[in-house]
Amino acid sequence: MCDLCEKYSWSSDTDKELMKACIEEHLKNKMLSRELKDKEKLRGQNHCQVNVACFDLQQVLTTPHSMSSQLYYRRKLATYNLSVFDLVRKAGYCYMWHEGVAKRGANNVASCVWKYRTDRVENGHCSEFMFFTDNCGGQNKNKSIAAMYLHASAIRSLPVECISHYYLQAGHTQNEGDSMHAVIERASKHVNVYTPMQWYTLASSAKKNGSPYRVTEMAGHMKDFKILSELYCKRLREAVSMKSPEWHKMKALMVQKQSPHVLFVIYAHDETDFIPLVNAVPHEQSAETAASLPVLENESSVSKAKKDDLQYMCSQLIIPREYHCFYSSLPLERQHNVPEPITAPAQEGPSTSAE
Ligand SMILES: [Zn+2]
Repeated sequence: MCDLCEKYSWSSDTDKELMKACIEEHLKNKMLSRELKDKEKLRGQNHCQVNVACFDLQQVLTTPHSMSSQLYYRRKLATYNLSVFDLVRKAGYCYMWHEGVAKRGANNVASCVWKYRTDRVENGHCSEFMFFTDNCGGQNKNKSIAAMYLHASAIRSLPVECISHYYLQAGHTQNEGDSMHAVIERASKHVNVYTPMQWYTLASSAKKNGSPYRVTEMAGHMKDFKILSELYCKRLREAVSMKSPEWHKMKALMVQKQSPHVLFVIYAHDETDFIPLVNAVPHEQSAETAASLPVLENESSVSKAKKDDLQYMCSQLIIPREYHCFYSSLPLERQHNVPEPITAPAQEGPSTSAE
């Protein structure tokens, strides 16, 4: 039950009456977004070129990960996993990296989805993609994600006819992909994990029945979609009214090959007519950038304080000797000139900033 549903459940009859319209709208949207997901899943089952998937970032995984209490107050290295679950083929994919490689913001999520789409087009001849996620602005609902889709629609040689991205009703975003995270967490109980690579291996062997999760290491695959969003999304306006998009209200995004550079959106789950948004920046410019996708580099978010803690754990052999080389070669984040207070509590990972 979400916060709103719970609040409603324990409200007085008078308050329930006041909340009536709001809760009805909320429950209607919950039902509509689930129905849509089920409907599209069915369509995917009948059309092999349609790929229907959920994606979500897992809670931060850390290293070293062990039962040792000595680790508790030390800052640990964060490993990230964006999991994609193919709802039709019931196949799980993990896109994994650690904070010495990159952050976990919109750019990084977009890079994982881009990689997923590229691999499915190459391997499975998919020409239509449909994604379902929660509403997290910093990760799933932003200009970098939209730029990634617009970029795909703008490349003539890509055999992708349509990509849509639906946002499940806030508070009720549970989906079939959630079990992936539970399976990985269960597999890590009573196991020592000393490096991110061991997390990658653990994820790939976590599932005991059926096909294992396919793990892709994202180092070397991170792209800078934020630069592209400057070209594709900077001055998006509604085609007729010239109104600016309202990102937080969006219920779905869509791009189509037949209308490159146009971002279609809806603001209600039961809306079927998508509103076209067009960019004021000339298309030639974006097409030029499109030729080579900007690579995202030097995005480490390992602070000096964290690296010191990790090296302390190496010196105490809490981290075994064979992994010391990995930790000593971790690149530091670019801006580490602001010293962290010595009394700062252990950080479990970087905060996610909205982009
Ligand atoms: Zn609810």
